[in-house]
Amino acid sequence: MPNTRISDRTRDLKAKLFRSQVRVWDKLSQKEKGQVLSFAEGYLDFLNRCRTERMVVRHFVERASKAGFHDVDNRRRPSSKLFRVMRGKALAVAVIGKKPITQGFRLIASHIDCPRLDLKPNPLYEDMGLALLKTQYYGGVKKYQWVSRPLALCGTISRGDGSVVDVEMGLKPDEPVFTIPDLLPHLARKQMEQKASEFIPGESLNLIVGSTPYSSEETDERVKLKVLELLQRKYNITEEDFISAEIQVIPAEPARDAGMDRGLIAGYGQDDRACAYACFTALLDTVNSEHTAIAIFFDKEEIGSEGNTSAQSRFLEMFLADLMENTGTEPSSGNLQKAFFCGRALSADVAAAIDPTYADVYEKRNDAKLGYGIALKKYTGRGGKSQASEANAEYTGWVRRLLNSKGVVWQAAVLGKVDEGGGGTVAKYLANMGMETIDCGPPILGMHSPLEVSSKDDIWMCHRAFKAFFGS
Ligand code: MN
Ligand code: MN
Repeated sequence: MPNTRISDRTRDLKAKLFRSQVRVWDKLSQKEKGQVLSFAEGYLDFLNRCRTERMVVRHFVERASKAGFHDVDNRRRPSSKLFRVMRGKALAVAVIGKKPITQGFRLIASHIDCPRLDLKPNPLYEDMGLALLKTQYYGGVKKYQWVSRPLALCGTISRGDGSVVDVEMGLKPDEPVFTIPDLLPHLARKQMEQKASEFIPGESLNLIVGSTPYSSEETDERVKLKVLELLQRKYNITEEDFISAEIQVIPAEPARDAGMDRGLIAGYGQDDRACAYACFTALLDTVNSEHTAIAIFFDKEEIGSEGNTSAQSRFLEMFLADLMENTGTEPSSGNLQKAFFCGRALSADVAAAIDPTYADVYEKRNDAKLGYGIALKKYTGRGGKSQASEANAEYTGWVRRLLNSKGVVWQAAVLGKVDEGGGGTVAKYLANMGMETIDCGPPILGMHSPLEVSSKDDIWMCHRAFKAFFGS
C-alpha cells in the first residue's frame, strides 16, 4: 500500500520550493474587495467616456489639470506636476521626484489607440438607394467581427477654413447607429467556403449611413446629398472635409459588467486603455516619490508604433528635456543619455489570457490566466524570440521583489505556444533608448475584438503594481 499521508517534511519542503499561483480574489481582504469593485466602476466610466485616443487625452488632461498638473508650455514657474500633449493623440504626465532626473526615473508607457475601422479619405457614396462610407481597418482585426453589429462614428475634422470640429454619432442611447450588414446565409454558399481571413474582404467593410432621398426632384445621388446636408447642418462640413479628417468606426455599445458574479468587464478598447487607466490613476496617487514618475500614453501602437505620436517618435525625449529644464538641469544629449540609461520602465500592455475553449494554442504552464493578477512578460516577440525585447534577469528580479514586497498578486506570462504566433508592443523602443524595461499588464480574453473581456481584480492589481513602481 502506498503511503497516502504526506509527511510534514514533504509538505514544508513543497511550500518552500514551489511557486504557488494564487487567485487575486483569495488574497483580498473584505475591504479591498470593495475597492476592486469601486475601481472597476471608475474604469467602466472611463471606457465609456473615452472611445478614441483623442478622447482619452482630453479626459486625462482635464483630470490632471484639476489635480494641479500644468502644461509644460503654459506654466509660469517650475512645477512638480507637469504634462505635455503631443498633437492631441499622445500624452505624457509626470510628478517630479526628489532625485535629479539624470539619476533615473520611473516610466510607465501604455498606448491609447485601439484596433478599429477608419474612414477612407473619400468615403461617401450612394449605391442601390443607400448612402455608405468606405472604411479601412486599423490594426490587427478579424474583419468578420465588425459586421452585423451596431457601430458609432467618432473623430475630428479639419474644415476647409482651417477650423476643427469633433464628430460623435451613435454613442448616446437615443442616437441612430450605423452598421455593416453581413450577407444572408441563404445566398452565402460561396462566402461560407472561403477562409475566415477572406470571406469579409477589406473592401466589403462599407458602413450604411443613410437611406432617404433629399428631395423628390429628378437628380442622382439624392441619398448621398441628404447625408451631406445633415452633416452640413450638424457640423458645417462638405464632402472635401472628409479628406482632412480622422474618423473612426467603433462599437456603439457601452462596456459593462459580465458574468453572473459581475467579476468581469466586457467592452471595446481594453487593449490598452486598461493599462492607461490603471497607470494614470496610479500617477495621480503619487506624492513625494524618490524618482520622477512619468506616465506616457502613446498612439499608433496597434500599427507598429510608427509616426510622430508613436513610441518611435521623439516625444519621450522631448518630455524628458522639458522636465530637466523645469528642474534647472541642462537638457544636453549627455544628460538625456544618463537619464535614459538609469531609467526604469514598465511597458504596460495587456496579455493574452488563456481561453479555455482554445486552450491548445496556449502554453498552459507559461501563459496568463484571468483572475491571477498582473502578468509579467519577460519577453514577447515570436518564434525564436524574433523582434523581442527581453528584460534582463536582474531587472525582472527587481520588479518581482518590488511586487512581492507590496503584496501585489502577479503571474509570469508569455504569448501563446512558441510556434503559434506572437507579437510585441512598445517595450523594444523603450529598451533601445537604454532603459531597463519589462512588459506587464492584465490578461484579456478576446483581445482585439469589439468586445474584450478583463477581470476586475486583475485591473486593480495593475493599478497597485503601477503605484508601487512609481513609489519605488
Ligand atoms: Mn496593446
Ligand atoms: Mn493590441
